[in-house]
Amino acid sequence: MTVQSEVLIAGAGVVGLTTAAVAARAGFSVTVIDARAAPTPWQRERYDQRVVALTRASQRLLQQLGAWDGIALRRVSPYTAMQVWDGQGSGSIRFAAADIGEPDLGHIVELSAIEAALLSVLQQQPAVTLRRACKVSAAQAEADATVVSLDDGQTLRAKLLIAADGAQSGLREAAGIALTEHDYDHHALVAQIHCERPHQQTAWQRFTEHGPLALLPLAEPQQCSIVWSQPPAQTEAMLALNDEDFSAALTRAFEARLGALTVQSARLSFPLKMRHADRYLGERLLLLGDAAHTMHPLAGQGLNLSLADVAALATVLETAKRRQLDPGLLSVLRPFERARRADNSAMLALVGGFKNLFARSELPVVLARNVGMSLLDRHGYAKSWISRRALGLR
Ligand SMILES: Cc1cc2nc3c(=O)[nH]c(=O)nc-3n(C[C@H](O)[C@H](O)[C@H](O)COP(=O)(O)OP(=O)(O)OC[C@H]3O[C@@H](n4cnc5c(N)ncnc54)[C@H](O)[C@@H]3O)c2cc1C
Repeated sequence: MTVQSEVLIAGAGVVGLTTAAVAARAGFSVTVIDARAAPTPWQRERYDQRVVALTRASQRLLQQLGAWDGIALRRVSPYTAMQVWDGQGSGSIRFAAADIGEPDLGHIVELSAIEAALLSVLQQQPAVTLRRACKVSAAQAEADATVVSLDDGQTLRAKLLIAADGAQSGLREAAGIALTEHDYDHHALVAQIHCERPHQQTAWQRFTEHGPLALLPLAEPQQCSIVWSQPPAQTEAMLALNDEDFSAALTRAFEARLGALTVQSARLSFPLKMRHADRYLGERLLLLGDAAHTMHPLAGQGLNLSLADVAALATVLETAKRRQLDPGLLSVLRPFERARRADNSAMLALVGGFKNLFARSELPVVLARNVGMSLLDRHGYAKSWISRRALGLR
């Protein structure tokens, strides 16, 4: 039997679920397919290892969709300042929410809390069907629809197929959409830690000689999540240490700025790669989320950019519905790609530039970097421009 819906989304990660909420709100019938049998459960007693820093723009989108209250009810941690410094010199910069008249600079949120809140919203949406434990295996575009095959043998027809199937997107590959990619030669180690001194609702980042070490403040004043990006060999070495030795190495790498740091969870690592799809559109196909782009987590922007993509798509879908246009047509979707690809390219270039700049250890570069940071720290207007941009307010 062939099932019909207007929009079909492959992938029920945060991006796929947000897109489903946006498409349903625009008035489309939506089917979401996910390979996972169940989402990662959110637990009150234990932090999800995967946390992200969300900007104000992302928060607003989730608020408009009715998901933010559900996220806040579970657990969020607003941060009111950001302290960044160069481990190879004295350059440092501090951004404060108060300097730009904002209550915070963003929130640290667990991915499982975002997924759980979005799933509650979608349960109230009769136009959305979610199917788990099956994969989209192929798609064939026809004149008026795309025919999508699932690995359980079923076929579905939709006007538009959205690939939110993650960094290794099989749909992107099957559509022959090329990637511009670049290995950052970093693996990110993530874990939850206890700090001897309170984190002061500050997101901290030290650029060490091997890569950035970030401490993201969690809801309890002495709990943080770390993202420590280093070349694979260094990350492997950190993973191999016992908890005590790892905690000591971490405290040293952070210059003991919050006293002794103690690891309190398992340590996970993620290889980091820049990927940017050469185009976001195929025949009745649109790429979103990590399927469209991935970047180094040093600026905490990967998911935020994807949610900005979803917000832009919302406008396109609402217009299509109002004008009774076929949402799978390239002519309808083109404004989305035009609006987002240039922005995303600029952020990918900026993040890559930062990563490379802080990887350099030649004395003139280190000096220039440190002087630059200190000068910027004293330049109120430039700092507030960067803070507002980082919040997604420009
Ligand atoms: C260490 C680290 C730190 C980060 N920190 C931040 C941060 O602070 N701020 C920020 O904005 N971003 C951050 N990011 C990026 C962010 O985590 C990702 O961009 C985001 O989680 C990707 O979501 P997604 O929904 O696109 O993909 P995923 O979460 O990968 O979801 C893809 C889904 O597709 C499903 N799937 C795959 N193939 C199929 C198929 N064929 N059919 C059906 N379903 C399929 C999978 O089961 C999965 O559920 C960070 C990333 C890392 C690695």
